[in-house]
Amino acid sequence: MNVLIVEDELPLAKALNQILTKDGWIVDEVHDGVSAVDYAEGFAYDLIILDVMLPKLDGFEVLHVLRRAGLNTPILMLTARTAVADKVTGLRSGADDYMTKPFDTDELLARVAALTRRTGEIAVEQVTFADLKLDLASAELCCGDNSVQLSKKEFDVAKLLLQNPAQTLTKEQLINKVWGVDSEATDNNVEAYISFLRKKLKYLGSRVSIKNIQRLGYRLEVEA
Ligand code: CA
Repeated sequence: MNVLIVEDELPLAKALNQILTKDGWIVDEVHDGVSAVDYAEGFAYDLIILDVMLPKLDGFEVLHVLRRAGLNTPILMLTARTAVADKVTGLRSGADDYMTKPFDTDELLARVAALTRRTGEIAVEQVTFADLKLDLASAELCCGDNSVQLSKKEFDVAKLLLQNPAQTLTKEQLINKVWGVDSEATDNNVEAYISFLRKKLKYLGSRVSIKNIQRLGYRLEVEA
């Protein structure tokens, strides 16, 4: 399960990151409203924790943009402000829950669990896109009657592309997600695995290809 933490107070962001990592979440952390929109639109998070007072775009504006874009990820708003008016604004703008700072760790985890149970009951066992089906348990990529086994890294890259078919994924995003923010992986690693996947797509006879978007990254494309 992936969570995006949006909080500009760095010690608090770090504390949230630690609490949720310890709880088993894979955490991305950003510190302003514009990055929040970029990240939230770029990846399929299971939960977003969103502070209200943020640089660039405030939390309500971020919420508004995301909901208008059709994103239905559960969003937990977090703020130091205790005014009832804020709470009403937040929930009206499409937040799922609301917590005021400072908060208790147990209460945070209880709310996170409640929010993600609502949407996360059914385990997704496969990701499909066009004529492709990726089995999440066996890491087999299938197209019609053909199937091919993916290596661990090929699987991670393929899964990200298939889960975000309308998005251009940058090499940096792929490195952060697949190899980890602290890894020493470079663009060459990404290019190598994209090339492996292209060969497998060709072998499968899929109509889907991985398109290079100049200077941006990669996106899936379906042949008509
Ligand atoms: Ca803040």
